[in-house]
Amino acid sequence: MRLYEYEAKKLFSQAGIPISTGEVAQTKEQARGIAEKLSKPVILKAQILSGGRGKAGGVKFAQSPQEAQSKAEELLAARIKGFPVKKILVDEKLDIQQEFYLGITLDRVNYKIVMLACSEGGVEIEEIASRNPEKIKRVSVDVDQNFYPFMGNSLAGWMGAKGDGLKSVSKIAVSLFKLFRQYDAKLVEINPLILTKEGKYVAADARMSVDDDALFRHPELAEMGIEKRHEEGEMTDREKQAREWGIPYLDLDGDVGMFPGGAGFGIMGNDFIHYYGGRPANFMDSGGGPTPERLAKMLVLLDNNPNVKAIFGARFGGISRCDDFAKGVVMFLKEHGLSKPMVLRMTGNMWQDGVRIFKEEKDKNPEIFRNIEIHGIETPIEEISQRAVGLAKAT
Ligand code: GDP
Ligand code: MN
Repeated sequence: MRLYEYEAKKLFSQAGIPISTGEVAQTKEQARGIAEKLSKPVILKAQILSGGRGKAGGVKFAQSPQEAQSKAEELLAARIKGFPVKKILVDEKLDIQQEFYLGITLDRVNYKIVMLACSEGGVEIEEIASRNPEKIKRVSVDVDQNFYPFMGNSLAGWMGAKGDGLKSVSKIAVSLFKLFRQYDAKLVEINPLILTKEGKYVAADARMSVDDDALFRHPELAEMGIEKRHEEGEMTDREKQAREWGIPYLDLDGDVGMFPGGAGFGIMGNDFIHYYGGRPANFMDSGGGPTPERLAKMLVLLDNNPNVKAIFGARFGGISRCDDFAKGVVMFLKEHGLSKPMVLRMTGNMWQDGVRIFKEEKDKNPEIFRNIEIHGIETPIEEISQRAVGLAKAT
């Protein structure tokens, strides 16, 4: 679950990380009021679940409360990176001497927690990583270990901090690590960490994602007004639709629509498609005896997906029976039809009946089966995968 900047800043502040002073506004009048209270130039930041707001026009400066009001009005009327702006963070504007990057995430390859620092802040870290990877300092920490002050000191030194500044950066790094662990975060990020003209280090931006599967361990988030939400900002429209329908579904970047059995079979199917030179358009899990209605919804997701050129259907009847599966698919074909070619294979529980149901239906209604191949156990899964890849390439 991704937090809004103002929510993350609340947690950062509680963890002892200095943040810029400010408040959230939902109207232009509130924005004006906050600017009056701060009685300083302010920065207005659209609260959306996306980074890169600066470049997209989601960050504005104002010299006076009057200007803050008109900038807030502009922001509230805008869509930034596709998101409507409902809240604005009105913060004091810091005078920048230098900008840094400081973040923590999981290194899934080496099973470690990794702290990343860079003396170039404000820019997307991915950009620097591809352009000047040597400018990024990485400190790996074993998952059962801690990020200790001596590590913070050395990191702060590498970042060029001195004296009180060094202590301050070191403390920020240590606190950020604690915060990461305390909330089962997947990511915490300060970009930019600003060194002000007065020589203070302040988190000007805050990003944080908490592992969805650990949310049950953190009722305190809801108590702080941080409501549980899905990572909608990072979901495609189809993924949102699938979630609404309760179907585990992920969009991928290929063109073979995947209509498999359960999760394991789904992953294996994706591997097969890759192996034969194709690219899956999605991952989907349809296990656990899906009803005809549910099967129909799954096919709707694939059929409406403009990226899908052909559909790979491979069903292993375990708990769910292939005859029920066939009935569900036939129902869909009769009601909606399928605009994409599909290769379908059934094995396992009642597969012969499944194949028979399809064959009988095909004799009665050949037109709804025009682009559909039905296979049973006699055709190996390797062949089915190749057929699907070939069909996607030919379409
Ligand atoms: P993002 O683009 O979504 O990451 O939004 P940020 O909160 O990082 O703001 C974008 C940019 O605005 C930052 O990279 C900074 O360069 C700048 N910025 C943010 N806060 C301040 C501030 O208090 N003072 C000044 N002068 N610039 C700021
Ligand atoms: Mn930022």
